[in-house]
Amino acid sequence: MSHAHCLVVVDYQKDFVDGVLGCGQPALDIESFIEKKIQEHLDARHTVFFTLDTHTEPVYSDSVESSSYTMHCRKYTEGWLPYGVIKNYMTHPGVEAIEKATYGCAELASRISASTIRDVEIVGVYTDVCVFHNAVLIYNTVPDADIRVFASGCASPDAAMHSQSLRMMRTFVTVVE
Ligand SMILES: [Zn+2]
Repeated sequence: MSHAHCLVVVDYQKDFVDGVLGCGQPALDIESFIEKKIQEHLDARHTVFFTLDTHTEPVYSDSVESSSYTMHCRKYTEGWLPYGVIKNYMTHPGVEAIEKATYGCAELASRISASTIRDVEIVGVYTDVCVFHNAVLIYNTVPDADIRVFASGCASPDAAMHSQSLRMMRTFVTVVE
């Protein structure tokens, strides 16, 4: 039996694109690549997962993350929603949005593990934080999965960290340049 495929769009939310923790231009530049990837997977009837970084107070102030990053992606605010045209896909049949309060999304990795999905494509932001954490998490939870991370579909506010994290991911996923 052949395995199923999915696309994971990591945290492509307004706060990480042009909001409070925005990557700026590098994140704006990948919007059309991400949209093409979403369309390609929906056309092939693959599941498209959106991870949604989701925080609430007072929980956020007590989290480890709060010592590094100011409050962001507050649930139901504009900054929490996917950015630009990608927002339009959030309610599209075949797209499943999963909220998470940590860098990696344990529920996503579990869902993939419990399914027949063994081909996983990943795009999103930041390359060195949530993309990296989710790639690590999926690799370790689903060790028989083929995982591809698209360099042209990822962005970070820090160009050096973008490149370094892609180099680190090459030891356990395929990085498509
Ligand atoms: Zn966060």
